[in-house]
Amino acid sequence: MSDLVIPAPSLPTVPTTTGGAFPVRRIYCVGRNYAAHAREMGHDPDREPPFFFTKPADAIVVHGEAVPYPPQTAQLEYEIEQVVAIGVGGSDIAAADALAHVWGYAVGIDLTRRDLQAEAKRLARPWDLAKGFDASAPIGALRPANGVDPARGAIELRVDGVVRQRGDLADMIWPVADVIAALSRTVRLEPGDLVFTGTPDGVGPVTPGQELSGSLDGVGTVHARIV
Ligand code: MN
Repeated sequence: MSDLVIPAPSLPTVPTTTGGAFPVRRIYCVGRNYAAHAREMGHDPDREPPFFFTKPADAIVVHGEAVPYPPQTAQLEYEIEQVVAIGVGGSDIAAADALAHVWGYAVGIDLTRRDLQAEAKRLARPWDLAKGFDASAPIGALRPANGVDPARGAIELRVDGVVRQRGDLADMIWPVADVIAALSRTVRLEPGDLVFTGTPDGVGPVTPGQELSGSLDGVGTVHARIV
């Protein structure tokens, strides 16, 4: 094997509740997975199969580290989401087998440059830089799947202590097992992949100096300070 011509990039990891670190390979995100959020974004939730976009693995922010307000936007928005960590890879995974591929769960924030996303939609351009920018994926510790019910649980986001989003995983249009099945028909899932499973309604803007905190019952919390 040839020597590396620059130093190898560091491996992004997410802390776990068991003490070890989960290495992140890729980050997939589901769009419009709660009917009320689909409606608030101007779409009919009954007519849309799940669709996906991605963030780079190094968009991960852990331990409540500060999130620099990103450039090229005047409308940074929060989306609180359940996050699924894939521990066992596979393609064409059946929904009935999907949960056996999960290492664990966390709660995370899909930070979005909403103005860039709106422009991308208008011009029929990719969402990549509206969704996948530096520090766009704050996440809490991963809890092993054993004992977690991924199909229900209150999920909430607060800005400076004020509740802005409050939903329940039971309201997801496509539950975790269906999300994994659908995604694995499109790409081969591998250990280290994370999947953000969509946000309930109530998304909105956040400005420098504000503190985001989120929680998912039975799983954990996430914190991010915008600076
Ligand atoms: Mn999202």
